[in-house]
Amino acid sequence: MSGDLSRDELVEQGRAVVDWIAEYLDHPERYPVLSRVRPGEIRASLPASPPREGEPLERILADFETKIIPGITHWNHPAFFGYFATSASVPGILAEMLVATLDVKAMLWKTSPAATELEEVATDWLRQMLGLGDGWFGITTDTASISSMLALAAAREARPELAIRERGMAGRGDLPRLRVYSSEHAHSSVDKAAMALGIGLENVVKIGADAEYRMRPDVLAAAIAADRAFGYLPLACVATVGTTSTSSIDPVPAIGEICRREDVWLHVDGAYGGMLAIVPEFRAVLDGADGADSLVVNPHKWLFTPFDCSAFFIKRPDVLKRAFSLVPEFLVTREQDEVVNYMDYGVQLGRRFRALKLWMVIRAFGTDGLADRLRTHCALAQQFAAWVGSSAEWELVAPVPFSLVCFRYAPPGMSDLECDARNEAIMHTVNAGGDVFLSHTKLHGRFTLRLAVGNIRTEARHVALAWERLRDAAGSGGAAPGSGMGNIAAESTETATE
Ligand code: PLP
Repeated sequence: MSGDLSRDELVEQGRAVVDWIAEYLDHPERYPVLSRVRPGEIRASLPASPPREGEPLERILADFETKIIPGITHWNHPAFFGYFATSASVPGILAEMLVATLDVKAMLWKTSPAATELEEVATDWLRQMLGLGDGWFGITTDTASISSMLALAAAREARPELAIRERGMAGRGDLPRLRVYSSEHAHSSVDKAAMALGIGLENVVKIGADAEYRMRPDVLAAAIAADRAFGYLPLACVATVGTTSTSSIDPVPAIGEICRREDVWLHVDGAYGGMLAIVPEFRAVLDGADGADSLVVNPHKWLFTPFDCSAFFIKRPDVLKRAFSLVPEFLVTREQDEVVNYMDYGVQLGRRFRALKLWMVIRAFGTDGLADRLRTHCALAQQFAAWVGSSAEWELVAPVPFSLVCFRYAPPGMSDLECDARNEAIMHTVNAGGDVFLSHTKLHGRFTLRLAVGNIRTEARHVALAWERLRDAAGSGGAAPGSGMGNIAAESTETATE
C-alpha cells in the first residue's frame, strides 16, 4: 500500500469539513462555551491503541463531532470573555488550510522564498499599522512568551563581553548577576524566559506598581541603582502595554528614558494591548515604544489571526542573529549573505509559514476594517463597564483602557471574605450555564472577575447576556442592558484607587 487518500475523498470530505466550519461559525451558540467533560472522560472514550487498518475519513469526522467536540472549550465563541478573548477569522482559517497543504518550513530563504519575503512584508505592514517608525525588523514566532524570550536573549548577547553564547553561564565566577526588571503585573512569560536563559527567577526584579497597576519609574530607577551598588548588571526591562490582569499600561516613555540612561535593553510586551495602536485614535497606547529595543504584539490575540502568530519586532536583528545563528554545512546556501534566513533569529530550524494568514487577514479586512473591529470591542467593553459602574451592588476595580473590564459584585456591607467567595461562586455559576465564559484574577489579594471582549463575532447582545447571567447568578438588580453607553474613563480611574 502506498500513497495518500484519493482526490475524490479530499474533495468530498473537504467540502464536508468546509460545511462544518461554516455551520460552526454561524451557530457557535449550540455548544457550551466551557467544556463540561470531567477529567479523563475524553481519553476514556477513545480506543487505547491505534487502528491497524485505515478508517474512512467520514467515520473519523463523525467521531470528531461526537467524541472530540464535547471536550472543546470554544475559544472561537462570541461569548468567550475569558483570559484575553481571541478569534480565528475566515481568511485566517482558509490560510491555515493552504499552509497545511504547502507544508513549508520557513527556515531558509531557499526553502521557500515567498514564505520569507511574505514574512518580511506582512510584519512590515503590521509595523506601519502600529504607527512604528522605520528601522524595525519583524519576525513571527509561535507566542509572545517565545518573543519575549528572544528579546532577553538578544539583551544578553548585546553584552559581547559576557561571552555567554560561547562559554555559557554555569561555573563562571567572572559573571555578575544579570538583572531583569518588570512590573509586578508583568506576564509570567518574563519569569519563564529568565528561567530558560539561566538568568534565574531571583534575578527578575518585580517593580512595584501605582494605584492603577502601572510600573513606577521611580521604583525602577531606585532598583537599578541598588543593583549597581551590589555589583549586579542591569540587563533588561520589560514594560507592558496591556497587562494580563487589568490591561494597565506601564509608562513606557519614562521607563525608556531610564533604560537609555542606564544602558538597559527595553522590551515592550504589547501582546494584547499593543495591537490597539492600529486604531488611529488609540495610537497613544504605544507611546514611547518606538524608542524601545524590541516589542511584541500578538495577531493571534487581537487581530483575528488563528493561533499561532506572534509578531516580534527588534531594532538590532544583528544582535539576535549573533545570539542564535549556527549554520551547519547542510544548511549553507549560496545566497545566505544577501537574504534573510529566519532560522538565524531563534532556536527553531523548521518554522511555520505564519505570514500567509497574517497577510490574508490584513488584506481581507483592510486596515480600516481591522481598526473598526477593535474600536467596536472597546465600545462594547465600555458599555459593560457602564452597566457595572451604574449599579450599586457591583464595582469596577480597574480602569478600562482597552476591551477588558475588571469588576466584582460588592453590595454595601459585604465583608471582603464573603465578597471573594461570592464572586468565585458567581463565576462558576455563569460558566456552568454554558452560554457565557469569563475568567478571574486577584487584585490586592481580592477575587476579581474579568470580562474580555476580543472575538470578531461578539455583538452587543453577547455582552448584554453576560451581564444578565452575572446578575442572575448574584441574585442582584442593577442597571438593565440598554442604558446609555456613557464614557466611564474618569469614573473608572477613581474606582481603581481602592
Ligand atoms: N504577555 C501578555 C501581556 C499576555 O497577556 C500574555 C497572555 O495572555 C502573554 C504575554 C503570553 O502570550 P502567549 O500565549 O502568546 O505566549
